[in-house]
Amino acid sequence: MELQLRISGVHHQMLKKHLLPEDGLESVAVALCGRYMDKDNIVLTVHDITLIPDSECLSREEDLLQWPTQKAIPYFERIGKSDLAIMKIHSHPGGYNKFSSTDDKSDAEFFDSAFGWALNDKPHISAVMLPDGEIFARLFFSDLHHEPVKKVLISGDVIKLYNTNTGSKSDDFALRTIQAFGDKTYQDLKQMTVGVIGCSGTGSPLIEQLVRLGVGKIVLIDPDTVEQKNLNRILNTTKKDAELHRPKVLVISEAIANMGLDTNVTPLQKNLYDSPEALKELIMCDSVFGCMDSVDGRHLLNQLCAFYLVPYFDLGVKLEADGKGGVNKICGSVHYLQPGKSSLISRGVYTTEDLRAASQYRKNPEEFENLRKNAYIKNVNVNTPAVISVNMNIASHAINEFLNRIHPYKAEPTSNYALSTIDITENCIINVAEDDLSIDNYLKKKIGRGDITPFIEMPELT
Ligand SMILES: [Zn+2]
Repeated sequence: MELQLRISGVHHQMLKKHLLPEDGLESVAVALCGRYMDKDNIVLTVHDITLIPDSECLSREEDLLQWPTQKAIPYFERIGKSDLAIMKIHSHPGGYNKFSSTDDKSDAEFFDSAFGWALNDKPHISAVMLPDGEIFARLFFSDLHHEPVKKVLISGDVIKLYNTNTGSKSDDFALRTIQAFGDKTYQDLKQMTVGVIGCSGTGSPLIEQLVRLGVGKIVLIDPDTVEQKNLNRILNTTKKDAELHRPKVLVISEAIANMGLDTNVTPLQKNLYDSPEALKELIMCDSVFGCMDSVDGRHLLNQLCAFYLVPYFDLGVKLEADGKGGVNKICGSVHYLQPGKSSLISRGVYTTEDLRAASQYRKNPEEFENLRKNAYIKNVNVNTPAVISVNMNIASHAINEFLNRIHPYKAEPTSNYALSTIDITENCIINVAEDDLSIDNYLKKKIGRGDITPFIEMPELT
């Protein structure tokens, strides 16, 4: 059973500020968490936080804390009414990296009360923050036994992974990556599961880079088969694949297997809207890359990433030709989207009208064609020009940004690169900071909400 805790960068910052005060004494907070559960995994995702004021604690020491647990009652009431979990998190300012015997005693009492209030017997969680912001945690089950959480993921300006799996020996093929980014980054990549949705122009060079960087597990999602018109840009595809109409995800996963770098690949020849299996795989990812043209696919992914706290990189390419062999404009964009901040829709990438049109097209392509001819709705999902060098450029930019989020190395703070527009005709890159983009106030309320009916509040998926 894989047990995980996820926290958005916004909540991690709040907790860090409160739990590590200057007086060097212990502090405490409680949180409500969403859940994702299947037969192999339990993921708890922080949804809402209450900081317990230090002034209200009965005693605070370097290794001891007594606090008024009635402060948690509003959350106990909520776990009595809805399918949410409660988290207790306190700090060990001295850096003690285990649960103490005092913790065992106070956790047993706290979670005994929690199960008394709770609607069901699903697990709750206790966590500890260390002086550098690192978090370790354990899940409490209804019989009050506990199990350690294996992975804690912070999805914020920086993507942080706290892992209990001890580092393994580095692979020889990775030596030069390690020279640049260090063994810690390489070990993180090895422990990561990364999803790629869309395995064509930008997707395929992106996948190639993820594998050669040593990412441990990759989920590939694309419903399409290889066609002659794709051979100008999809790595590892051949004329034979096009003649046999082989699925893109299969061709690419075979190429990865042939590399022999021990990458675990899950290929899914699926469309996101028709595949609960694909959505479950994406929930379990530590980062996802959207390499799709369709606005409804991008919208679904953005929504899922907010509910389950998954960092999301969105890639787009725009190539405008005059139809006579001339180029008007070539540019691409890489969006980094984190829960609780801006979204593709609040950034103005598409509108609700575009979404409506895309949904009509998905459900009834023929009727859509008629409407489009009569110019009632905008054109969507069309074949546009595509050139391998442009796609590879944008894919590489996205991978460099992914590395920067795991191991910040760029000149400015990571938050300054929320959106990069790579304008190839003007030969420049324009960056926009997260603070200069509008927050998505609807998704902000859904942060870490986890399992809910209808799934991610999109009835068409249920
Ligand atoms: Zn403690």
